[in-house]
Amino acid sequence: MPRPIQATVHTEALRANLARLRRAAGDARVWGVVKADAYGHGIERVYEPFRAVDGFALLDLTEAERVRALGWRGPVLLLEGVFDTRDLELCSRLSLWHTVHCEEQIDMLAVHKTHAPHRVFLKMNSGMNRLGFAPQAFRGAWTRLNALPQVDEITLMTHFSDADTARGIAHQMRVFADATHDLPGERSLSNSAAALRFADDGAVRADWIRPGIALYGGAPDYPTHDIAHWGIAPTSTLSSRIISVQHLVAGDTVGYGSTYTAPAAMRIGLVACGYADGYPRHAPTGTPVLVDGLRTRTLGRVSMDMMAVDLTELSPAGIGAEVTLWGRGPRGSVLPVDEVAHAAGTVSYELLCALAPRVPVLTD
Ligand SMILES: *Cc1c(COP(=O)(O)O)cnc(C)c1O
Repeated sequence: MPRPIQATVHTEALRANLARLRRAAGDARVWGVVKADAYGHGIERVYEPFRAVDGFALLDLTEAERVRALGWRGPVLLLEGVFDTRDLELCSRLSLWHTVHCEEQIDMLAVHKTHAPHRVFLKMNSGMNRLGFAPQAFRGAWTRLNALPQVDEITLMTHFSDADTARGIAHQMRVFADATHDLPGERSLSNSAAALRFADDGAVRADWIRPGIALYGGAPDYPTHDIAHWGIAPTSTLSSRIISVQHLVAGDTVGYGSTYTAPAAMRIGLVACGYADGYPRHAPTGTPVLVDGLRTRTLGRVSMDMMAVDLTELSPAGIGAEVTLWGRGPRGSVLPVDEVAHAAGTVSYELLCALAPRVPVLTD
């Protein structure tokens, strides 16, 4: 029998989440963001349920090739654009749309030979200070691009730093609007958080939304709101089984560093899951976990291949009991990945993307 750890990708949930984002988008078109191998789900696994997107957005040229190899003939957008001149040849060959965020990318385009002009997304740095032209340089970049025979339509794009928090997006909306109000072209602004939280605002939805995490069962603004609030379903489950049971007396400790000390007699189970499977090592004692669909907590340090959970109150559960690290458990139980991420001081994105290659993945 193989080691009992297992990841499951839930096809119907992916489909339902896309429909949910489609409702939030109104008339706007929807990019399915599939970077980082579809947030750890696997591009090939999400392709079918995501066929109703208007396009696939990603970073990696090899991921763009995979989307084309699956037979997708619609739009594919490179969210960071090209990294060198040769990448533009692949863009021409596979008709990839690409972000343009710096002068060097315009220089590359200016010397690129292509039969078909490229559709580009011109990115403004409206306050995130990651990629993009400063607002005062944006018009110059647009004018330069617009004059190139290598360029077809130009979509105006920016990215929000605080769409998931109280600071919000108003300051960036103002910067973007001031610098673009008289420029023609479509607009694309919103990630999942903006698309869900400002779904009633047509200027925020604009022409293309770019949801990622909400498609993959994460609430972009957890813990303010959870997936139930947003009507989003968990799209992946990480499950395993109890492989050992230990009986502790008061004063016994658990795991490396003895970070947990039993205050009284306890029964604990060891789960075949550790940080080498992608479970966060920083998840402290008390991180939620389901055993046979019932909620309990982790104890002590997560080690490479194992972790301990409290079985004291779950009396019949023993070796072989089903453990849900996140996602869907037996009898309709659910442990949102957001809760585990939050307990571990991180976000669902990181846990989903960190699923290790040694974990076998099923689809249902
Ligand atoms: C990753 C990414 C997104 C998706 O963000 P989520 O928070 O996962 O919805 C949107 N736009 C850009 C430019 C991105 O890099």
